[in-house]
Amino acid sequence: MSFTLAIVGRPNVGKSTLFNRLVGKRLALVDDQPGVTRDLREGAARLGDLRFTVIDTAGLEDATDDSLQGRMRRLTERAVDMADVCLFMIDARTGITPTDQIFAEILRKRAKHVILAANKAEGRAADAGVIEAYSLGLGEPLRLSAEHGEGLGDLLAELMPLA
Ligand code: GDP
Ligand code: MG
Repeated sequence: MSFTLAIVGRPNVGKSTLFNRLVGKRLALVDDQPGVTRDLREGAARLGDLRFTVIDTAGLEDATDDSLQGRMRRLTERAVDMADVCLFMIDARTGITPTDQIFAEILRKRAKHVILAANKAEGRAADAGVIEAYSLGLGEPLRLSAEHGEGLGDLLAELMPLA
């Protein structure tokens, strides 16, 4: 028996980029522009010798500010309940936003196991955001660059005990 990992976080932090990298097929669209309606996506992930199920939470990018919170919450809660472990992704270049705080709260209350990942962490421009991520109270952030494939060894090390 393997495990299910849900990648959660606000729009545009890089969730689908990581999903695509783990699944190795273009199952999830990656957009620079918001505006594409999406939902939960499931794929068969490979990382090192690990095989697991990965869920990409999407379907948020087209929401207006008013509907964003409700939709985001419902979708994230669904993914969290399906998952054995959640990878909570923040954008280290942007730093922590109020929306990130909302996600952190959902995960603290609901998730069985959380891995905090500070994505877009390639280069020094991300250093301040990585430090800020400690304030979420979800432990030490994992430095990740989904786009450049950095930090995947550390992610593998965190997932290994769950397999
Ligand atoms: P999602 O909305 O959370 O699924 O985010 P996407 O995967 O669609 O990525 C949003 C944007 O961030 C895209 O333009 C990606 O190319 C970019 N992105 C994703 N990962 C990284 C990363 O590690 N570094 C940088 N600099 N950009 C990234
Ligand atoms: Mg996405």
